[in-house]
Amino acid sequence: MKRQTFGVIGAGQMGAGIAQVAAASGLTVIMNDIKQEFVDRGLTTIAKNLQRLVDKGKLADDDKKAILARITPSTALSDMAAADFVVEAASEKENIKFKIFQDLDEICAPHVILASNTSSIPIGRIAAHTKRPEKVIGMHFMNPVPVMQLVEVICGLATAPETLETTLALTKQMGKTPARANDYPGFIANRILLPMINEAIFCLYHGVGEREDIDTVMKLGMNHPMGPLALADLIGLDTCLAIMNTLHEGLGDPKYRPCPLLRQYVEAGWLGRKSGRGFYTYE
Ligand code: NAD
Repeated sequence: MKRQTFGVIGAGQMGAGIAQVAAASGLTVIMNDIKQEFVDRGLTTIAKNLQRLVDKGKLADDDKKAILARITPSTALSDMAAADFVVEAASEKENIKFKIFQDLDEICAPHVILASNTSSIPIGRIAAHTKRPEKVIGMHFMNPVPVMQLVEVICGLATAPETLETTLALTKQMGKTPARANDYPGFIANRILLPMINEAIFCLYHGVGEREDIDTVMKLGMNHPMGPLALADLIGLDTCLAIMNTLHEGLGDPKYRPCPLLRQYVEAGWLGRKSGRGFYTYE
């Protein structure tokens, strides 16, 4: 079943990327955030990304305009009444997501699937805040969304097979490749990636190496395209901390404790690229 109007909650780095890819695949998109300035920032990012493709000759100017025209900005969650499928990509905080799902459950038509782009929060826990847990699923895009091929698709205990089928089909329609994961904290991607990043931060904290050396070892020694500290800055240090906390609390194993240095950076507002400073500084 082809879903026509695609709702995106959150216009941050992930929400904007998801909206861009959805609109580029022909879907009509409603992109929502809590403030007009956040929606505008998301739209500006999308316009810049598309312009870069035009400049490289990979996208026609008319197609850029058509993609942008398919995205309707929104600051009222009630606009999601017009959506056929919704992906939530708001901040990685349980209470924010629980409230959004509770409200979406009231606003959206009964057939609508409610997906979360959460990096680590169990889908079943989010679904329990709705009266349609069979229609709640994880749709975990990778950052940067327009570039990365993978979408991790996560079924909660109650997710119906039809919800999975529709989500897999939609993922492919958006030009992405799905991989399925079961509903445990961090799923597959962040169960593996975040402890590696956290350990790199411990290496910095313990003085095992300077930040550039830590990143160089992983880039040139392990063939990673980015070093773990640069990647943490890209993901957002607040998001990294939230994921480590979810792994730590959800799995109850001390090996997942977040590095105190990560906590200290987040408390100082050093969130990585999005705040201009993290392990590195940005213009
Ligand atoms: P971000 O901080 O860039 O953006 C989050 C956006 O959500 C902000 O614009 C914020 O204003 C908005 N928001 C907060 N509360 C809201 C609400 N009630 N309604 C609507 N919008 C609201 O964060 P991000 O990196 O885009 O992450 C978003 C989600 O995607 C998180 O769940 C995160 O774990 C997940 N994710 C992040 C990455 C990554 O690399 N950053 C990768 C995969 C998944």
